[in-house]
Amino acid sequence: MRSQFDYSRPASPQEAVAMRARLGDGARFWAGGTDMILMWQREEVSLDHCIDLTFLDELRFIDVADDRIRIGAMATLAALERSAERHPHLRTLSDITKLMCTPQTRSIATVGGNLCNASPAADLSPAFVALDAEAVILGPDGERRIAMEDFFEGVNHTAVSNGDLLSEIVIPLPPDRRVEASYRRIDRTVVDIALVNASASVSVDAGSRVTGTRIALGAVAPVIIRSGAAEAVLVGADLNNVDSGLLVKAGELAAADAKPISDVRASADYRRAMIKVMVKRALNDSITKLGGTVT
Ligand SMILES: Cc1cc2nc3c(=O)[nH]c(=O)nc-3n(C[C@H](O)[C@H](O)[C@H](O)COP(=O)(O)OP(=O)(O)OC[C@H]3O[C@@H](n4cnc5c(N)ncnc54)[C@H](O)[C@@H]3O)c2cc1C
Repeated sequence: MRSQFDYSRPASPQEAVAMRARLGDGARFWAGGTDMILMWQREEVSLDHCIDLTFLDELRFIDVADDRIRIGAMATLAALERSAERHPHLRTLSDITKLMCTPQTRSIATVGGNLCNASPAADLSPAFVALDAEAVILGPDGERRIAMEDFFEGVNHTAVSNGDLLSEIVIPLPPDRRVEASYRRIDRTVVDIALVNASASVSVDAGSRVTGTRIALGAVAPVIIRSGAAEAVLVGADLNNVDSGLLVKAGELAAADAKPISDVRASADYRRAMIKVMVKRALNDSITKLGGTVT
């Protein structure tokens, strides 16, 4: 492992991608560096060449339109935290950032870095999956889009691990339904990563019928997983009178889909038990945000 690395500062995202293709696997993108510096110090990655994305201002944006929200990969967690007033989904994401790191770290850590690091316990990943977001990826052959749930391929492994660049995340805002999402996590201390986490979105039509839910679970498998069985439970329910037993059932089905491990932080049994609680609470939160009632 080298104790030094070379350094380049691309002038555009396209140049960053071309540099990475030319320099090969020893070259790594550096966004905020809050995960990178630790991986390098612990010799978990080989870093011969640092491609510094810090000055790519065109990737630092949060843009809200009628039909979608776009978040640039280089938007910091602090910028996301400050965006709460601009849209209810941004309030949800802002609330999540407050659980992450410390204010100092949030001022340099980026949204893209959090997703590309692909920790199964990362806080933003489940929420973007629950919000049905897409990743916009730039490679040597141009741009492509994939669903956020397909972005994660393994622990610290994603659709951009081949050297492509995550340029932005797009959250759709469908015109025909109202959607709210929520996030719950359980942790040991406020600066620790989640023992388990869950994000749940609930969609309702104009008549207050639940048309769909998306439930994403973190830290219970190598990648963020969805629970199809749990997602089906609330469909068709009247938002104004949701039986609390349905939330319990959704939590139980999600726990059955989880594949947690036992490690130094918690046992698999504890994680599975907590998934029931996190899913129930996240669904309850989203129903409440939509103005619904759980009885
Ligand atoms: C004290 C501390 C507390 C933390 N607490 C939390 C927490 O509570 N919750 C949590 O989820 N995380 C936490 N983290 C982890 C970390 O801060 C976040 O994951 C952060 O968002 C990473 O962003 P970054 O910009 O620093 O990424 P970097 O470290 O720069 O990059 C991370 C990885 O992503 C790659 N990468 C970065 N940007 C791109 C891109 N646009 N395209 C392709 N690849 C890219 C890099 O090559 C690298 O492999 C914590 C870290 C620290 C140091």
